[in-house]
Amino acid sequence: MKLFKKILIANRGEIAVRVIRACRELGISTVAVYSDVDKEAVHVKMADEAVCIGPADVSLSYLNMPVILSAAEITDAEAIHPGYGFLSENVQFAETCRSSGITFIGPSPDNIRIGGDKAKARQLLKRKSVPVIPGSSGVLKNEKEARKTAKKVGYPIILKASSGGGGRGMRIVESELEMEKSFATAQRESLTAFGSNELYIEKYLSSVRHIEVQIMADNNGNVIHLGERDCTIQRRHQKLIEESPSPFITNKLRKKLGEYAIKTARAIGYRNVGTVEFVVNDDSIYFIEINTRVQVEHPVTEMVTGIDIINEQIKLAAGLPLEYRQNDITVTGHAIECRINAEDPKTFIPSPGKIDFFYQPGGAGIRIDTAAYSGWEVPPQYDSLVAKVIVQAAKRDEAIRHMLLALDEFMIEGIKTTIPFHKKVLRDKRFLEGDFDTHFCDSMNSRDYIRPG
Ligand code: ADP
Repeated sequence: MKLFKKILIANRGEIAVRVIRACRELGISTVAVYSDVDKEAVHVKMADEAVCIGPADVSLSYLNMPVILSAAEITDAEAIHPGYGFLSENVQFAETCRSSGITFIGPSPDNIRIGGDKAKARQLLKRKSVPVIPGSSGVLKNEKEARKTAKKVGYPIILKASSGGGGRGMRIVESELEMEKSFATAQRESLTAFGSNELYIEKYLSSVRHIEVQIMADNNGNVIHLGERDCTIQRRHQKLIEESPSPFITNKLRKKLGEYAIKTARAIGYRNVGTVEFVVNDDSIYFIEINTRVQVEHPVTEMVTGIDIINEQIKLAAGLPLEYRQNDITVTGHAIECRINAEDPKTFIPSPGKIDFFYQPGGAGIRIDTAAYSGWEVPPQYDSLVAKVIVQAAKRDEAIRHMLLALDEFMIEGIKTTIPFHKKVLRDKRFLEGDFDTHFCDSMNSRDYIRPG
């Protein structure tokens, strides 16, 4: 089977640049798409061809399926890489690509469908003996059922939108008194954000770590995993720092996580690359969801395994068999990623605008994934990720030290960024000792945590 001659990248920013790099390495031509405000973007300059797909509004450009498919057709692209976000987990888009004879670089539409139906995925995996958090079996019929389930599992519980994602569509309910209001609000919010008001319940676990496992699967049913990523440092359920391996996971738990991830992939007949997400509470592992796309934090796994996940993703989509067996995968050293967002480091309020000066750190073991440059304007319409700093070293403490040096070197002038926030976390005793849960950021004193320099 041959690889593609030309791929269209239906995304922007650092991930579009990342995919273009993988294509170049594989000798594949690239087509960038861009909205009006992204005319001067790096992915546009870097690709072999570029097609303007509309105005800044995402519904008219990066989410506009007919226009993106037409761009693929007029440029003779044989495949579309959706990156993350935008159309990457859109069943209709994956199906339309397929019926138009264009390869969607990602899993099958059925895989995406189950990934987007979190209540159903839970039910299915429970039947396959993958542990899930106690809660409802499937979608809740009404508020009465929500009360009944909550009583059974015990408050606090978390109401989740079945088609939710990105840390949105979740509501913690502390007691039965709050249920009526919370249920109605959660339904309304879910309908507005995700076009569905289906909710399910999980017991709210007060202290957890977010641990996820990268998986890769070919069309012949071979599945392997590339170890775990610890994404416990979050703010409002959104990841800020990721690392591999987890400082907290024992080899025994690691083995179990790998087994559950493979079981999950097999249970749904998974193809291509993906991530199985778990929360871990002491020695207990619980499945929370499967992400059917490449993730922002994939580089930490690339750094410790030496495997180019995007490269493999393209080859798998072309129908090539997996080149690795589980025994070929080894994790070397420790990698950490900090997401540098154009945001106020205290309030996390977006800070778009012109970058007057941009100088990125470098040196051994340091990788910067970005599409920013001096003079570029961060548009307010899209997500605020400006750069990812990824560091690898032999040991965790060394990786943390190198990350601090890299962040000190990073010069981004003209906009506010989250760099001071990251420095604060990386110097925190609890972080250094690996002693933290998903509430770590909430527990930092937001008023005085930024140290000068
Ligand atoms: P999303 O799809 O929006 O990312 P997830 O279900 O993956 O939502 O959960 C995101 C984060 O929310 C988790 O990483 C964890 O920090 C927290 N979380 C989710 N479910 C629970 C739970 N039952 N108890 C405690 N924390 C949870």
